[in-house]
Amino acid sequence: MTTPFYWSFSALQDFEGCAARYAAVKIDKTHKFSGTFQKNFGNDVHKAIEMYLLAGKPLPVTLEQFEALLGSIAKISHSVEYKFGIRRDWTLTKPGARDAWFRGSIDLAALDDGDVYIIDWKTGKKWNKPDQLAAYAAAVDAIYPDVKTVNACYVWLKTNEMSFHVFDKAQRDEFRKDFSWRADYMEKAIAARDFKPRTSKLCLWCPVLQAGNCVTATDDGYTIEQAKHAGAM
Ligand code: SF4
Repeated sequence: MTTPFYWSFSALQDFEGCAARYAAVKIDKTHKFSGTFQKNFGNDVHKAIEMYLLAGKPLPVTLEQFEALLGSIAKISHSVEYKFGIRRDWTLTKPGARDAWFRGSIDLAALDDGDVYIIDWKTGKKWNKPDQLAAYAAAVDAIYPDVKTVNACYVWLKTNEMSFHVFDKAQRDEFRKDFSWRADYMEKAIAARDFKPRTSKLCLWCPVLQAGNCVTATDDGYTIEQAKHAGAM
């Protein structure tokens, strides 16, 4: 029995970044990303925060600056690495259920007096688009019925910065429409194997380019030499 289509925010982001790369790495698996430092660092951070909140273990020195924030969250109802599954009609189901159309994991979710707080830890470079927080905020109404406001935040661990965003009910309604449309587009493209390449400076980090297999990127002036120079391989 084949698994029905489902999406996560990172899969959607990968697909929208370049559908050809997404197909090569995630669907056909003909190419693979190299480099694991970022992933290992992210895993260590998540584990340390989980141990602090769930077992009261001290934070490592690199995370001590977030002790006040985490300390106040520890006092209210919260979930660490909260995994969710959302059906197509934006109702809640189990994360691994067949009808879990949108699947995700919120690094930290807390509920206080009808407001929900979402935190996502970031180990990479800072960006301004709150798209991932918007996807989680769209799911929050199914997870916490009667929620008023969603207060969402990226925490940029490399630079010790935070980006706050507040989403009201009307915004979350719009997010649900937007993500439904985007996920439908992705589903149809996968079914039709319509994987258009989309060049950007991220091509330098793409294994398809690094293997010399992307004509579109080469035509647009991206080269393996540039990838080596940028430290991408
Ligand atoms: S090199 Fe660029 S255009 Fe080509 S598959 Fe990779 S990301 Fe897409």
